[in-house]
Amino acid sequence: MTAGPRRGPARPGDGWPGDFADPTTPVAASPALVRELAAGASDTDALDARMSVCRACPRLVSWREEVAQVRRAAFASQPYWGRPVSSFGPADARILIVGLAPAAHGGNRTGRIFTGDRSGDWLFASLHRVGLATQVMSQSAGDGQRLRGTRIVAAVRCAPPANKPTTAERDTCRPWLVRDLELVRPTLRVVVVLGGFAWTALWPALAQAGYSVPAPRVPFGHGARADLPEAGVRVVGCYHPSQQNTFTGRVTEVMLDTVFGSAAALAEVGERRV
Ligand code: SF4
Repeated sequence: MTAGPRRGPARPGDGWPGDFADPTTPVAASPALVRELAAGASDTDALDARMSVCRACPRLVSWREEVAQVRRAAFASQPYWGRPVSSFGPADARILIVGLAPAAHGGNRTGRIFTGDRSGDWLFASLHRVGLATQVMSQSAGDGQRLRGTRIVAAVRCAPPANKPTTAERDTCRPWLVRDLELVRPTLRVVVVLGGFAWTALWPALAQAGYSVPAPRVPFGHGARADLPEAGVRVVGCYHPSQQNTFTGRVTEVMLDTVFGSAAALAEVGERRV
């Protein structure tokens, strides 16, 4: 047996940096309870706590906890989070970034979305260059990283096998996203959507959160955009900074900086560094 930290998911209240949950946090063990507990979250702290102990999708619970038990050899000396990954960023964000789901050895290991993997390296470096993140890297939940006026959320909060959640898992997880969209609405100006999966997931969530959404839907593309004039919000598409996209040059630093720089200017946040 490999020596090292306790295997398996982090326990609520055990002191993991940024863990909003404690042993009394209610657990959503079914799709109906996800709907009930998300709708009843009074603020983003309660929402982040509740989603971080959710157990409504048996396949994803089993996978995320198995990954946290087995661990990748390169990270065998580290504890794994092994739970759903909450949103990250202030409650009064003006920019929302919507990702697909945490990575098995990224967010599922570190406990923070887009943290500890190559996609996150690209994303946070760009956010830092345009002034939306205080540090160039996001490596662990206790590294002091902060976002300015920006909150990162995901369509699905548990790491899925092969990065592919099922349609049913996406729909089961939607109420967490809906509540994020409701809570941030007073300040929200721009939504940047990373990839086609998140783009498809966003529109029904926006509608359920009470936003008027355009019909027909705008197709996803890098730079695709749709305005929600009633809410004063612009939705912008951006290719996902996945390893495949960055390796092949489908996504470049300039492309990310252009999208996030424009979002920062439109939302009037950030301290530009480039
Ligand atoms: S994917 Fe979402 S709904 Fe399913 S268990 Fe994870 S947090 Fe809960």
